[in-house]
Amino acid sequence: MIGIGVDVGGTFVKFFVMNERGEIVRQEKMETDYSKGSAGFIATVGDFIKNIRQEFSDQEIAVAVGAPGDVDHEKGILRYNPNLKFTDVADWPLADQLEKYTSIRPVVANDATLATWGVYESDLKRQGTNVLVVTLGTGVGGGMIINKELYQGSHGTAGEIGHTKIADVTSGPVCGCGAHGCLEAFIGTIGIKRRILAAVEANPTSILAQLVKENPNFKIEVAFRAAEQGCPEALKIWEDTGHYLGIGIANFALILDMDTVVLTGGVSGAARYFMPALRQVLSNQQIKTPFNHLTVITSKNPNIGGVGAAMYAINQALRKQIK
Ligand SMILES: [Zn+2]
Repeated sequence: MIGIGVDVGGTFVKFFVMNERGEIVRQEKMETDYSKGSAGFIATVGDFIKNIRQEFSDQEIAVAVGAPGDVDHEKGILRYNPNLKFTDVADWPLADQLEKYTSIRPVVANDATLATWGVYESDLKRQGTNVLVVTLGTGVGGGMIINKELYQGSHGTAGEIGHTKIADVTSGPVCGCGAHGCLEAFIGTIGIKRRILAAVEANPTSILAQLVKENPNFKIEVAFRAAEQGCPEALKIWEDTGHYLGIGIANFALILDMDTVVLTGGVSGAARYFMPALRQVLSNQQIKTPFNHLTVITSKNPNIGGVGAAMYAINQALRKQIK
């Protein structure tokens, strides 16, 4: 069995081809080409799948496509995706179109959902029964393993941790989704940038302010570099990030009582600066049981979305064989 994981992003499409032992046998990255519309995109992905099928003609091929946004995982339809700029299609029947092109029915799911499976199989080796995965980047996404199974919800949208509210829905900070008070408005890169700018204004002579002055188009990495130099303003930014993330995770722990939380995505690289404040929030909870044995770790695999898709494709195909 060969699993092909397709990680569809607004800028790049990444392919990961894996075998049943969890080894990557091929990987490729292409720019997302908008010039030939959605049909051109189907042809690009479809041709890759056909080539792999030819190359591994003695093996069964399973495919999973992870896409950001709102995905109907049962029908394989991409309902809403603000990052993909194909204007000729709405409610995109990705699974049907790829099946027509390749004769292989792919699994289509939300990218963070498939990344969650990747974390569970690849990082955790299926240790843990109930797991929350939080993806920390421009957006804050996530997914859940419940009773050792990937949980996608009734409509495929479970795990939108970034848009759960941790502040007032009218007066809280604005989120990328347009709402107020979302967790993502505090700990997504836009929220962190907002606090960097406020800190620079409050203390224009700090190390952080110097770095921002040198890089007018700065990324939140400046807060990481300033923290490395012991800048109190930068350390406070990470402390606040950990505090807010802790509130978000605590809410989930009170509902799910999970055993493991895995943080992934670029911002998780600053874990050493935000983790103490995060743990503080968890240990200050009044109801202790969900927090006493809760493990919070980070995943270092930058390709977990595509790897997770390939592993999930194999997992689903093997299940069908057993049935
Ligand atoms: Zn939001």
